[in-house]
Amino acid sequence: MITTLDAIQAGVTLAALQRQSLLDALDNRVLLCHALQLNRIALITQSERALSEDEAQRFAALVQRRLDGEPIAYIVGQREFFGLPFEVGSAVLIPRPDTELLVELTLERLPPQGRALDMGTGSGAIAVAVAHSRPDADVTALDVSPEALAVARRNAAANNARVTFLHSDWYAAIHDAAPFDIIASNPPYIASGDHHLSEGDLRYEPQSALTDHADGLSALRTIIAGAPAHLRPQGWLLMEHGYDQAEQVRALLTAAGYAEVQSWRDLAGIERVTGGRLAA
Ligand code: GLN
Repeated sequence: MITTLDAIQAGVTLAALQRQSLLDALDNRVLLCHALQLNRIALITQSERALSEDEAQRFAALVQRRLDGEPIAYIVGQREFFGLPFEVGSAVLIPRPDTELLVELTLERLPPQGRALDMGTGSGAIAVAVAHSRPDADVTALDVSPEALAVARRNAAANNARVTFLHSDWYAAIHDAAPFDIIASNPPYIASGDHHLSEGDLRYEPQSALTDHADGLSALRTIIAGAPAHLRPQGWLLMEHGYDQAEQVRALLTAAGYAEVQSWRDLAGIERVTGGRLAA
């Protein structure tokens, strides 16, 4: 039985390592596969295989990192989003299932050969998912972080997604681009000092991707204010936001003159994306 890290040593079988673990059973399997470079099936078919000294050390080190609180996605360097594998690392936010709603809403509204812009792309999750589903689309993704853009570029290449990347502080570097049919963004929206920033996975994620260091709405305000200059008439602006920000984001869009202002709920039933349409 595996009840301490010391029990992970040469000779222990894969079956034993899965019968009991210091970690959540799924986390444990993911780390075991990663340490031994095995797939899930092999964990079952090779259940009586015993760990070598090297493998035991590698696996124990990964378990220790997880016990210290590091997110699984950073430990294995990958997270699935919209059915695609994404490389992740400390320069980018780990893509959340909630954000798939933003991708779906974008895909539903993108006309044939349409132009979409992903602002603050991070790992590239939104832009790559859209471009992968819609090879006809003209997708641009920007980020202020060169480190994030490097990750996003690799994710586009690995997923055969055609995306144009731009190093830009919000709209600052978009010059002479044809107007977009849709602007989508999952910007930093957690208010400075929010207790979530010092809990769980968020402790390991880039603060600049999570918080605006202000009231949580400042990036959303910047995106809303600048979008009309870059959208086609009737183009959509769609933004992810915090669980308690939908009403405020709708008010900002309405005050800025957008039409069809509305919010959509995520899988947990929380209003998670709000958008509006540029008047014709
Ligand atoms: N959805 C993330 C979280 O709270 C935050 C993402 C963001 O700030 N854009 O876990």
